[in-house]
Amino acid sequence: MIRRRTILKSALGAAAMAALPRAFAASGSKIEVAKVTDSIALVTGAGGNVLALSTADGLVVVDSGAPGATMDLQAALASLPNGNKIRTLFNTHWHHEQTGGNEALGKGAAIVAHEKTRQRLSIGYYLPAEDRYEKPVPVAAQPTESFYTTGETKIANQRVEYGYLLEAHTDGDCYVYFRDANVLAVGDAVSPLRDPELDWFGGGWLGGRVDALDLLLKLGNANTKYVPSYGAAVARADVQKERDMSLKIFERFVELVRKGQSADDIFAAGIMNDTGRTWSDPKLFVHDAFKGFWAHHNTLMPDIV
Ligand SMILES: [Zn+2]
Repeated sequence: MIRRRTILKSALGAAAMAALPRAFAASGSKIEVAKVTDSIALVTGAGGNVLALSTADGLVVVDSGAPGATMDLQAALASLPNGNKIRTLFNTHWHHEQTGGNEALGKGAAIVAHEKTRQRLSIGYYLPAEDRYEKPVPVAAQPTESFYTTGETKIANQRVEYGYLLEAHTDGDCYVYFRDANVLAVGDAVSPLRDPELDWFGGGWLGGRVDALDLLLKLGNANTKYVPSYGAAVARADVQKERDMSLKIFERFVELVRKGQSADDIFAAGIMNDTGRTWSDPKLFVHDAFKGFWAHHNTLMPDIV
């Protein structure tokens, strides 16, 4: 352990992460860089969270922020040890706040995502709330590598594992696990800060979210740092708490949907009472979750065919 840390420190150079956190606000955004471990930094304020592992071969970056924040994000990343080169960029899903900087950050780098995310970005998709089609992103912003289930790579002796989180938030969610640093990027499948969001038309639903949370608990251990798309890194116990709450709501939903209740009935029945957290818009969550149940009605219980 000591030997590995020594090698890592010398590879990163004297600049290391000692001066963190720093702020980057050249164009009015409030981008901040905080240390997660000796080799991993969390950039906040550029849309969704951006996580960066410094290796001797350059950065491994998870998510590329919102479209308008790219220049400040690039400055923040360039300030990191070995930040002059991005080796690999992962997208945890296809939403704008995770993929807005793909073209700029992906220059000379591999862009890795789940196949569904690659398809969404390269083909476009329908947005029902706005009644319009989102156009494909430029070819240079599209993932260059995709996977269906799991994958693993080694970058400068750092193990990077990644895998699908089926229907956790969209249809293209994935985790990225920096195994040696024990830091797990979970995208929007864990939501400590904002209300959990289910992009029901984009393929997310509560059942998928519960399964994803179970998988993330199984992957990590008591010392794992889980980094969500919004908010600070959380511990395994926090993920467990969100999983238990999600399962509780899921089970209440199954019962009420089977009785034929509407989303408004379900909300009025108090499904969001005693969830152990504060919600900014619990009714919206119920409506989004309900639409997901509607799409999965034939899988809720074995006696429904
Ligand atoms: Zn999202």
